[in-house]
Amino acid sequence: MLTVEEALTAIIQHVVPGTATTTPLADSLHLILAEDLTTPHDSPPFDKSMMDGFAVASNGFQNAEKKTLRVLETITAGSLPTECIAPDTASRIMTGAFIPDGADCVVPIERVIFDETEPQDVTIAGDAVRAEGNILRQGILAETGQPLMKFGTLLEPQHIAVLAEFGVAQVPTFQRPTVAILATGDELLPIDQPLVPGRIRNSNEPMLVSQALRANATAIPLGVAKDKREDLRSHINAGLKHDFLLLSGGVSAGTLDLVPSELAAAGVKQVFHKIEMKPGKPLWFGQLKTSDHSCWVFGLPGNPVSSMVCFELFVRTALRKYAGWPQPAPQPTLARLTKSITVKGGRPTYFPCHLRLSDEGLEATPVAWGGSADLRSTADANGMCLLLPESRSVAPGDMVATICWSAM
Ligand code: AMP
Ligand code: MG
Repeated sequence: MLTVEEALTAIIQHVVPGTATTTPLADSLHLILAEDLTTPHDSPPFDKSMMDGFAVASNGFQNAEKKTLRVLETITAGSLPTECIAPDTASRIMTGAFIPDGADCVVPIERVIFDETEPQDVTIAGDAVRAEGNILRQGILAETGQPLMKFGTLLEPQHIAVLAEFGVAQVPTFQRPTVAILATGDELLPIDQPLVPGRIRNSNEPMLVSQALRANATAIPLGVAKDKREDLRSHINAGLKHDFLLLSGGVSAGTLDLVPSELAAAGVKQVFHKIEMKPGKPLWFGQLKTSDHSCWVFGLPGNPVSSMVCFELFVRTALRKYAGWPQPAPQPTLARLTKSITVKGGRPTYFPCHLRLSDEGLEATPVAWGGSADLRSTADANGMCLLLPESRSVAPGDMVATICWSAM
């Protein structure tokens, strides 16, 4: 049986990033940049006004208490000046507009005496004029050819905005993985069906679909496969066309746990089966490799919390590796426990908890959790904390490693 660390290492070794591609900027949120980029032009691309006011030549104001200047024209954002500024002239100018030749200062409208009914001249006090005042010079923020963004950057809205400023309409990125999701089990009912004895609703499919979406993958639900070899086989074959196939259920020791053998029959090579952890011990991982396609396959335990935890630890790591993340493994954060808790058994346990940022730092409150089938209590959790077998009983104030699932 592998440890969690060994399993993560094996996943990171086996999954390779998808080939780099180009993605329309509007679709590139949360993808990883696949090239170093340099600025294709200066920013700003021309000298521009930072204020609504008047463009003037500051050297015309030496020692002058105030001056009345003849107004040449109005320059709005997006238009070009047609006149050159001289010591006795000014042009009205708007924020973002092109600075006219001869001007080296924009005096804000609030600092001038100007009558809209007599717009031919403007009076400006000498102390309102300062060389380079309110002008953003071409290239001052970024010069052509400077480093703009590094390979491996996770594209967040601020990066998308910067790429838009520089006209990067097609972004070099790693691919978004496609993830097929297949629930297995004769007992599973569609979520809109009334319960009948012996049956339960298929909660793993919508859970895994939403976890995949949150991990920035494209999720493809394949419905439910019965615990019958033929049905399982045809569903598995459909799923193997994608980058990843997640199965839930059928990987334990039950008589109808057919998933490992059916995956093997479909040509998927096992990398590992079973992990020393709780919940999630029965996890299965393997890879189908043909000349032109790879599909990485997770057989997740059917118990809902086991599936949920295995996704957050292992599937998410695999998806990140495929999507080009430089650090795909989970990055636990230490938190202070608020409640004592004792866990039985000899395996490291990922215990659902509620994480909260308090004045003293990150706090973890374990929820009242009844084990791998207790899905309900995870609605009170937004993460999990790791309890190690050597410290079975932990007390308030103890520090524990935590992994956040969602917003705090
Ligand atoms: P299995 O791993 O197939 O032995 O399933 C373990 C437990 O998880 C059983 O109680 C199943 O009924 C339950 N289970 C399996 N698949 C699902 C699912 N898709 N949604 C909710 N519970 C499931
Ligand atoms: Mg089953």
